[in-house]
Amino acid sequence: MTTCSPSPARIAVVLGTRPELVKLAPLIHELGPTARLVHTGQHWDEAMSGQFLRELDLPEPELLSGVGGRPRAGQVAAALAQLETAFTAERPGAVVVQGDTNATLAGALAANALGIPLVHVEAGLRSRDRAMPEEHNRVMVDHIADLLCAATEENAANLRAESVTGEAIELTGNTVVEVVERQLPDAAARAALLARYGLTEDAYVLATVHRPENTDTAEALGAVLSELDRIAAAGTAVLLPMHPRTRSAVERFGLAALLARLTVTEPVGYGDFLGLARHAALLVSDSGGVQEECTVLKRPLLVVRRSTERPEAVDAGFAALVPPGPELGTLAAAWLADTPDRLARLASTPSPYGDGLASERIARLTLALAGPLTA
Ligand code: UDP
Repeated sequence: MTTCSPSPARIAVVLGTRPELVKLAPLIHELGPTARLVHTGQHWDEAMSGQFLRELDLPEPELLSGVGGRPRAGQVAAALAQLETAFTAERPGAVVVQGDTNATLAGALAANALGIPLVHVEAGLRSRDRAMPEEHNRVMVDHIADLLCAATEENAANLRAESVTGEAIELTGNTVVEVVERQLPDAAARAALLARYGLTEDAYVLATVHRPENTDTAEALGAVLSELDRIAAAGTAVLLPMHPRTRSAVERFGLAALLARLTVTEPVGYGDFLGLARHAALLVSDSGGVQEECTVLKRPLLVVRRSTERPEAVDAGFAALVPPGPELGTLAAAWLADTPDRLARLASTPSPYGDGLASERIARLTLALAGPLTA
């Protein structure tokens, strides 16, 4: 039934969303021709996937069908069934998943069902907020993974505290460090980018908002957008590249008036986002990845959430957690008033996410776990 494939592409990398493309890109490059890229299609369009595949120079993925745009259980089930078929037809030596998405869970369950060694990149993150589907996904995947790649010592400690029984917990660092270093445009390109958006270095806010807790109700989304509007009304430019989920929520809840003073764009490509973030006086975001990127870009971040699975940026002084509501505008004003001192402080603060060699380590460990090409 299970045949050993003669194909060199023996490491299946399963992903389905923008942050997975970003953070798995350096690992896929490290794996080279041994990587077999499988995209579940959870977010499959030009803005959220197409431009990232090109920009990050990733190979054309195998694409699953009928996964995106449906509720969570249906997404996981549809992806799982297709992954089982694909991995039975051509059995990989190991399956790699990253983070906490539905694609992560589906890839992990497919590996588990077929007895294929499973690698979890970014293992051990915990928000301890069971209202977040991502928290369930992380916990489940960690408990069935064979190789757990913890980005920080704190992540590894979370795994040990739960008696996670995988073969190995390895402290690897986070691949975000190398992807930011490689994809950040050079100074001239960044200057041109800021000119294109009419922005002045160290004098604007870059915001992203997309998590269900901030977009599922008119109250929650209204609370965030009102505060961004307040910042803009006080004279600081606010740029908001808008996630598709947020755009449809704005329309559904009739909140477009709150965008009048902001500069709203489609989601921007990765290099552009990094370039814009690199010179922002302040980032405001509920994104997971931005909490890591801010530590490499040395920019302050207000995390618009009630909990975070990434306390490292807060502990290192880059970020603060702030609930949606007036506290956000008030804290933003205070941080903006302190911009030169804050930027000077952060410039010499090391990133807690490692040394830029995480993908090299993870590739080596994964290839060792998968074993030789023809076992
Ligand atoms: N990002 C981007 N363009 C944008 C907004 C975000 O390239 O317009 C990047 C951002 O730098 C980060 C990733 O997308 O690497 C975050 O994706 P998202 O917020 O969707 O997911 P999360 O990190 O919360 O899981």
